[in-house]
Amino acid sequence: MTLAQGRPYLAIPGPSVMPDRVLAAMHRAAPDIYAGALHEMTASLYPDLRAVARTAHHVAIYIGNGHAAWEAANSNLFSRGDRALVLVTGQFGTSWASSVERLGVRVDRLDFGRHAPADPARLAEALRADRGHEIRAVLVTHVDTASTARNDVAAIRAAIDAAGHPALLAVDCIASLACDPFEMDAWGVDVMVGASQKGLMTPPGLGFVWFNERARDRCKGSDLRTPYWDWTPRAFAEEYWQQFCGTAPTHHLYGLREALNMLLHEEGLEAVWARHAVLARAVWAAVTAWGQGGDIALNIADPVARGHSVTSVRVGGAAERLRQWCAREAGVTLGIGLGMESADDWLRIAHMGHVNAHMTLGALSVIEAGMRALGIARGPGALDAAAAVIAAG
Ligand SMILES: *Cc1c(COP(=O)(O)O)cnc(C)c1O
Repeated sequence: MTLAQGRPYLAIPGPSVMPDRVLAAMHRAAPDIYAGALHEMTASLYPDLRAVARTAHHVAIYIGNGHAAWEAANSNLFSRGDRALVLVTGQFGTSWASSVERLGVRVDRLDFGRHAPADPARLAEALRADRGHEIRAVLVTHVDTASTARNDVAAIRAAIDAAGHPALLAVDCIASLACDPFEMDAWGVDVMVGASQKGLMTPPGLGFVWFNERARDRCKGSDLRTPYWDWTPRAFAEEYWQQFCGTAPTHHLYGLREALNMLLHEEGLEAVWARHAVLARAVWAAVTAWGQGGDIALNIADPVARGHSVTSVRVGGAAERLRQWCAREAGVTLGIGLGMESADDWLRIAHMGHVNAHMTLGALSVIEAGMRALGIARGPGALDAAAAVIAAG
């Protein structure tokens, strides 16, 4: 007998749960790529991609995952030998830094560890020390998917301005877009990177780079830019094929169209943000209660600095056993700890994308059952605490 039979739930921070409607929209014969419905549908994506990023500026679509979108942003932003300053708050900041460095950019890292967000005061100090204004761009992840720290992007912009530094601000929102509130223009973000398989509820395979006029202008001479990665023909295409530098990712575009319909035109972006906020608080309430009687804790102490799409949890010495129990016995796959001190102490609970109250409460109940089955010490009342958050809405 196994209680894992039934629809499985992949509660990892990407790929996220995909709506059946998105999958159904992709289930079709190959469309004509030279004319007709596909062209019109593709054109309709751009205003919605701007809306989801809260920008009036430009967006380029790439066939690729998040790593591809990083490389797209990097190659437009920099010339060989330029300097970049990367704010590191977990594994994804580290990886973005090495992705830029490998292209021949000189990278300074400001490392804030794995348990806290970036401190804008330290950024301002580092920029003031760069008297020759050599640093071309500051790179930061909005939500680091490993530590689940959420950075205060508006405060980071303010620190750059306070230092009187001209650096561009580039933000990786792959884990936070359409989950956590994000305001590209209002927060003064010049370049933003996203991907399809997280908050955008579409299979992995599309990467996006949004950029404003300032970035467009300042990056005209970047010599790392190659024909494939150049954002200009993609964002300002005169012919259809230029948007993708070749064949369009036809089926992914249909999936994305449906996902954007659901997010923007049915639920509404602010309601999407609010849903993620409530589900996140339910998870935090449960973990806090467990922590009252065991070696269990949220990784990020300050609630304001926690992402709303995924939560990193310490389960001292038992995280991997618990994760395996949940998958094997109950059909819920939780995320592994990533880039933390010890893999066996950490797991991540995703609450990202097409996720609702019963899924999050179900995942928490399964974790409770797993802790009971494995004899993991924990405090009482976790499920009550989570239910209270959901009941309050
Ligand atoms: C998932 C993720 C990435 C990497 O995306 P891939 O599609 O795995 O290449 C980069 N940054 C953040 C913040 C992410 O969450």
